[in-house]
Amino acid sequence: WKHAPAHFRALLEMSRFHGDKVFLAYEDEHLTFEEHFRRAATLSARLVEEYGVTKGDRVAVAMRNYPEWAISFSAVLAAGAIAVPLNAWWTEAELTYGVHDSGAKVLIADGERAVRLASTGVPMIVTRGEAPAGARAFDEVLGEVVADVKLPDVELSPEDPATIFYTSGTTGNPKGALGSHRNLGQSPMTVAYGLMRATALAGKDVAAAAGVRRVTLLTVPLFHVTGCFSALTTTMFSGGGLVLMYKWDPEQALRLIERERVTAMIGVPTNAWQLMSHPDFGKYDLSSLTTLGYGGAPAPPKLLERITQNLPDRAPSNGYGMTETTALAIGNGGADYQARPDSIGLPAAVVDVRVVDPSGAELPPGEVGELCVRGPNVILGYWNKPEATAQTFVGGWLHTGDLAKIDDEGFVYIVDRAKDMLIRGGENVYCAEVEAALFEHPAVDDTAVIGVPDDELGEEVGAVVRLAPGRTVTAEELQAFLANRIAKFKIPVHVWFREGELPRNPGGKILKTHLRREILGSA
Ligand code: ATP
Ligand code: MG
Repeated sequence: WKHAPAHFRALLEMSRFHGDKVFLAYEDEHLTFEEHFRRAATLSARLVEEYGVTKGDRVAVAMRNYPEWAISFSAVLAAGAIAVPLNAWWTEAELTYGVHDSGAKVLIADGERAVRLASTGVPMIVTRGEAPAGARAFDEVLGEVVADVKLPDVELSPEDPATIFYTSGTTGNPKGALGSHRNLGQSPMTVAYGLMRATALAGKDVAAAAGVRRVTLLTVPLFHVTGCFSALTTTMFSGGGLVLMYKWDPEQALRLIERERVTAMIGVPTNAWQLMSHPDFGKYDLSSLTTLGYGGAPAPPKLLERITQNLPDRAPSNGYGMTETTALAIGNGGADYQARPDSIGLPAAVVDVRVVDPSGAELPPGEVGELCVRGPNVILGYWNKPEATAQTFVGGWLHTGDLAKIDDEGFVYIVDRAKDMLIRGGENVYCAEVEAALFEHPAVDDTAVIGVPDDELGEEVGAVVRLAPGRTVTAEELQAFLANRIAKFKIPVHVWFREGELPRNPGGKILKTHLRREILGSA
C-alpha cells in the first residue's frame, strides 16, 4: 500500500462496519466507532492545515486515559506524522525531556500535563482543563466535526515510522522506541493469535467465544505499549469496545466489569491480584469476564492459582513483551499455562526467539543466557540513539536484556533481568526467583528482593516484604520456609517488613532503585 496508513484505513472500515457500536467508554461517556473516526479525521485535517504537520513530523500526546488520547493518536497517524505518547506520570523535567528528545512540533495534552509542558513553548492543543496562554482548546481546534471524511493525502510505506514510545526507564533513562506502521499493523494479529491460543487451550470453543462482542477493560495507561497495542489497536481492528480507566482502582474495575459487561481485562499482574483481593470481590457480577491477560512484569505462579480458585473457567494468560517488541512477543495461556505456571510460554505468531551467551552464540535448551527476539513486531531502533540501537539490535535480533532459558519444547522461562540479579560471593542470585519463592508463603502479599552491599561477600540477599492483611510472620519463619524451596545462598539474610505499598511504576514494575535508596540510602 502506498497511501493511507493501515491504522487509518482500518479505522475507516471499522466505522463502516460497526459505526454505531461503542468503541470507547470512559466514565459515563460513550463514543461510537463513527464518532471516533470523524473526530480523528477532522483533527488530522486541522493538524495538517493549521499546524503545518507533514509526514515524519513528531506530535506528542500527553494525557491520561481519556478518549481524546485515542482520537489524537489516530489523527497524528492519519496525517503521516509520528505519534509520541508521553508518560502522564512524568514530572515537568521528564516531560520536557520527552518533547526535546522527540523534537515534537505540536503537543496535544490534558490540562494537568499542559501546565507542566507550557515552558517548552511548543504549540499546544489542550483538553480536559484550561489551556495555558498561547495554547488552544481541543474542541475549538476540532471545530465542526466533518461528516464526509476523505482519506488524507499522504504517501506512506510499511517501513515508515509511526510511533515513538518511551521505555519505562527501569534500567536507566527512557529510550524512544521508534516503531513502524508495519509494527503497528501486525500488533492485533499477534495479540489475537495469543488470545485465540489461550482460549482454545482453556478448553473453550473459539468460534463461540468469537461470537461474543469483545469488551476490554484497560487497567493500565495508553501511553505504554500494552495499553496502546494489546488493548487500543487490537480492539479497534476487531470492532470491539474498550473501557478506559482514569487510573487503576480495583473497586472501580469490579464496578465497570459488571456495568459494561466486560469480557476481557488487560493489564499488569498486580491488577488481577488486587481485583481478587478486594473485600467486595464477591459482590459483583463478573460472569461476562472470559479472559484475563496480563504481562509487563513477572507474574508469580501463585497468581494463576488464585485465578483458578476465584475466577474458575476463565482463560488467564501471561504475556511477555517490551516497548521494543510493540507489546506482546511471547505468551502463555490455558492448559500450557496450568502445566507450566512459571513460564512465559511460546513465541507469538511469526516471532522467533533464542537465548545467547555474551559472545552472541546460541545456547542449547535449558541453559541461561540473554533472550533475543526477531520478527515483524520488533521496532526499527531507538530514536536518535545510533549507539544504543547498534548495541541492542544485532544482525536482526533484538537483545532484550532479560536472562532466560528455553526448554526442549520451546517454552521460555524468564530467569531475571540482566540488571536485576545480584552476585553473592561469586554466585548469581536471580531476584525474580527468590521473589517467586517468597510469594508462595501465604502471609506474603508483595515482595522485592535487592542486593545489599556486604564487605565479605560483595552482596548479600535482602527482601522487602509486605504482609497480607491480618497475617504475621517473622524473618526466621520466612527463612525456614524458603529453606525447602531454594538453595541456602539465595535465602535473604536481611528482611524488612513494610506496611505500605511497594513503589511501582504504572507498568507494574517495582522501582528497585527507589527501594534501595529508601532502605539502604544508596541506589
Ligand atoms: P528500560 O528498558 O528503559 O530500562 P523497561 O525494560 O522496564 O525499561 P519496558 O519495555 O516497559 O521497559 O519493559 C520490558 C521489560 O519488562 C522486559 O524486558 C522484561 O524484563 C519485563 N517483562 C515484560 N513482560 C514480562 C513477563 N510477562 N514476565 C516477566 N517479565 C516481563
Ligand atoms: Mg528495557
